[in-house]
Amino acid sequence: MSCATVLQNYINGEWCDSSATAYLDVTNPATAEILAKVPLGIATDVDQAANAAATAFNTWRRTPPGERVQYLFKLKALLEEHFEDLATTITQECGKTLAESKGELQRAIENVEVACGIPILMQGYNSEDIAKGIDEILIRQPLGVAAVIAPFNFPGMIPFWFMPYAIACGNTYIIKPSEKVPLTMQKVMQLLAQTGLPKGVVNLVNGAKEVVDAILAHPAIRAISFVGSTPVARYVYSRASANGKRAQCQGGAKNPVIVLPDADMEMTTRIVADSAFGCAGQRCLAASLAITVGEARHTFTEAITDAASTRVVGYGLDDGIQMGPVITAESRSRIEQLIQQGIAEGAKPLVDGRQTNIADYPQGYFIRPTLLQNIEPTSTIAQTEVFGPVLGLIHLNTVDDAIAFVNSGQYGNMACLFTSSGAAARKFRYEAEVGNIGINIGVAAPMAFFPFSGWKESFFGDLHGQGHHAVEFFTQTKVVVERWFQDWSRQF
Ligand code: NAD
Repeated sequence: MSCATVLQNYINGEWCDSSATAYLDVTNPATAEILAKVPLGIATDVDQAANAAATAFNTWRRTPPGERVQYLFKLKALLEEHFEDLATTITQECGKTLAESKGELQRAIENVEVACGIPILMQGYNSEDIAKGIDEILIRQPLGVAAVIAPFNFPGMIPFWFMPYAIACGNTYIIKPSEKVPLTMQKVMQLLAQTGLPKGVVNLVNGAKEVVDAILAHPAIRAISFVGSTPVARYVYSRASANGKRAQCQGGAKNPVIVLPDADMEMTTRIVADSAFGCAGQRCLAASLAITVGEARHTFTEAITDAASTRVVGYGLDDGIQMGPVITAESRSRIEQLIQQGIAEGAKPLVDGRQTNIADYPQGYFIRPTLLQNIEPTSTIAQTEVFGPVLGLIHLNTVDDAIAFVNSGQYGNMACLFTSSGAAARKFRYEAEVGNIGINIGVAAPMAFFPFSGWKESFFGDLHGQGHHAVEFFTQTKVVVERWFQDWSRQF
């Protein structure tokens, strides 16, 4: 074993060693440098964290909401103070550019801000005199222990879609980061510890499938938020539900953008290129298919070819870099195989990003933007989530054909329309069967005060992350019907 730092868990307010016997290298995808070793935790680790969280819950739920959010105000200040360092860590372990890392961190902070409104957001409601002298009251109460299982592509943001709301509502919490990018949450936990948050309120357990399975089975854990690929989302949702837990599981995507001939082509090209190639295409809201209608076929294709071939690829910490590497060597070869399959299915590579070599970083997992034309709507490349910087071009004749294509997909994370026609935009917004819609927007990521609304195989559950949905997910309602007999003979 190399001398790289072995990461610890944070349980009951203490940093502690995992009971793991197996470890994984955490690697900088731009340089292949080993940054740390992450323990592949076991059920004992989850049990310790769940027990600590269950014990902490008794006091935490009795702490007034206005007092609970004071820790979040402190966390926001600390996240801002350490913004540069956290963003650098995200780029080092995940590969995206520093600007992209700062963007995701900003959204994390926005979620903390929204959760600070819990004293009003988690209020219930009441009706007086539902019958003479009888009142009815709805109260929101926390569930107990909740957990998040996070993916690799937003190490700083995704746990924040859930954790601030969970603890603000009075729950206690377990974070299971992706084993590929565990370093950012280590730093976040160090900041959380500095807020003086009572021990056991938020715990961190490192690991992979074994930890996930232990979370799914643990009787003290009442609610699970998952974000990751669709097969694992489906698995987590079914196991959690079978075990009587609340679950919200966000899955994969294959996001189409439709370009109409009346769109502003310069702006559309810039936005679609950012959506398809930003974060090296490793965003669940990345555009992966561009559907041109009518004349847009020629104008858009020409402009996007230029944008794809001129994007500056390299190490995300270097100046002027517009796109970093993908997460692992395995991921790169999976993406390259999918490109090959697309070509075998008849697609024409207008820009082929395979075999990329970045001179200063020969070990990095780089792949340049790739543009495939003449994609068949029913082909594998048109249906499969690539999760890399690959944009497929499909040409259709009408807006109706384009909307029908959008609605034929198995996923429903996002679809976008580029147009200057209000009528076309309204029709699209109304008819598209996806949960996040962009009109002249390429990454329709909801702000923290709106839910992240995936549909179909992009989401299993009903209440999404962020905003009001998060408050509902992390509370259970209690309805009280009460009558007080009047005893007017008593004198006060
Ligand atoms: P992943 O499904 O491989 O891993 C996600 C989490 O599940 C990790 O914490 C991992 O340890 C755990 N896990 C992996 N395999 C498991 C198994 N067999 N059993 C139990 N747990 C398991 O996803 P990823 O590669 O880290 O992330 C990329 C995927 O996440 C893409 O499909 C992307 O679209 C999706 N994603 C979706 C959203 C969304 O909001 N819908 C957001 C971000 C990412």
